[in-house]
Amino acid sequence: MANLVAIVGRPNVGKSTLFNRLTQSRQAIVSDEAGTTRDRQYGKCEWNGREFSVVDTGGWVVNSDDIFEEEIRKQVLIATEEADLVLFLVDVNNGVTDLDMDVAKILRRTKLPVILVANKADDNAQRYYAAEFYKLGLGDPYCVSAISGGGTGDLLDAVVAKLPEGNGELLEDGIPRFAVVGRPNAGKSSIINAFIGEDRNIVTEIAGTTRDSIYTRYDKFGFDFYLVDTAGIRRKNKVTGDLEFYSVMRSIRAIENSDVCILMIDATRGIEAQDMNIFQIIQKNNKSLVVVVNKWDLVEDKTQKVIDTFTTAIRNRMAPFTDFPIVFASALTKQRIFKVLETAKDVYLSRKLRIGTTKLNEVMLPLIEAYPPPSIKGKYIKIKYCSQLPNTQIPSFVFYANLPQYIKEPYRRFLENKIRENWTLTGSPINIFIRQK
Ligand code: GDP
Ligand code: GDP
Repeated sequence: MANLVAIVGRPNVGKSTLFNRLTQSRQAIVSDEAGTTRDRQYGKCEWNGREFSVVDTGGWVVNSDDIFEEEIRKQVLIATEEADLVLFLVDVNNGVTDLDMDVAKILRRTKLPVILVANKADDNAQRYYAAEFYKLGLGDPYCVSAISGGGTGDLLDAVVAKLPEGNGELLEDGIPRFAVVGRPNAGKSSIINAFIGEDRNIVTEIAGTTRDSIYTRYDKFGFDFYLVDTAGIRRKNKVTGDLEFYSVMRSIRAIENSDVCILMIDATRGIEAQDMNIFQIIQKNNKSLVVVVNKWDLVEDKTQKVIDTFTTAIRNRMAPFTDFPIVFASALTKQRIFKVLETAKDVYLSRKLRIGTTKLNEVMLPLIEAYPPPSIKGKYIKIKYCSQLPNTQIPSFVFYANLPQYIKEPYRRFLENKIRENWTLTGSPINIFIRQK
């Protein structure tokens, strides 16, 4: 089970800089327009063979200079509810501020491991000032310079040492795990109630060891799957229930632990930035996708034209990944509720698809021959054969070529499209690797 690390602290202490360093994403946040990637929210970090997710709690506010102190407190509280470890960042040049004291007070109450990090310790003189932060009551700070990377190795050693080991939930192999995700009020609780509501005893709770279990088993009507719990299904936090930050934090764990994500979109609102944020977490984790346009009962004009408009709009927003099913449903009237489950099941099967090497080459080689990779610098590029890799998380294909470095993205996409045209991989991401033969 993946671990989640949250970075908290006042604005301008360097949260986003540290986030970028840990996740090694250099993409600046250029725009907060609806739908643009705000990559500073969520990323992956690997250190000494341990992988964990990192969330920058400051990544959710558009202008962090104007953020209210109350808002920061809320975010810290949410972080302590959802994360496995908290990095509390302070600015070594500023000394201890009142807000630092407030945040420390919240953090001293949690049972989570908290690591105090004194940032902007760019040289030794500044390290000397760091001692002052001891009075926050969270131990000695780790001095780092997020901007240059100084001290981050020691910090990461400490993070990995304090992360809990996997919590060993006993799940049966080969049973799909579905997560219902989406922004607040999209209808997640309603659709889950529509699946399991009237007959709660078809659902088995799985004992978790370290925190409340997030899995329930559903076994009825020819379906057998684990439902991975997400925002507000069990405990809808009254204060924070509708905050985007809260819902995204709650989605992360569900997405990471699922095979297929059922992304709920509210038909009355269309696809918005919040939906895209969740979609990006799904993509970053290579999960399969079913999009549900919920509240379809509220759409009066259910003509094919309207359906097509919805479909096109959704696929355009999620491009280049467009090969996923969209189901128009209503959790309220239960229209197409089972279609949602059926589709999720199909998508799960796509994810597990195995294509034999002979068949794969029989189909792909003539297509490649008819449309070979463009030659570069007078050199012919030849793909000799291909195969699907065994035991991968998602379908992964290797194409063996004489000069793999000259096969570029457009051709890779061509190969992916041809595979998708010839086999059913709907909803599943796939990998294409080009290797030297
Ligand atoms: P956030 O609001 O907490 O996310 O802070 P940012 O990461 O946006 O950083 C605020 C400012 O501090 C930016 O101008 C950064 O370049 C600067 N900064 C971040 N880390 C360091 C550091 O280690 N040393 C120095 N000197 N400046 C830093
Ligand atoms: P969540 O925050 O994603 O769990 O959303 P809820 O399931 O709590 O639903 C939010 C609101 O939308 C509630 O008032 C629901 O009754 C309503 N709702 C959910 N699904 C539907 C639907 O298919 N049709 C209509 N008309 N209302 C719905």
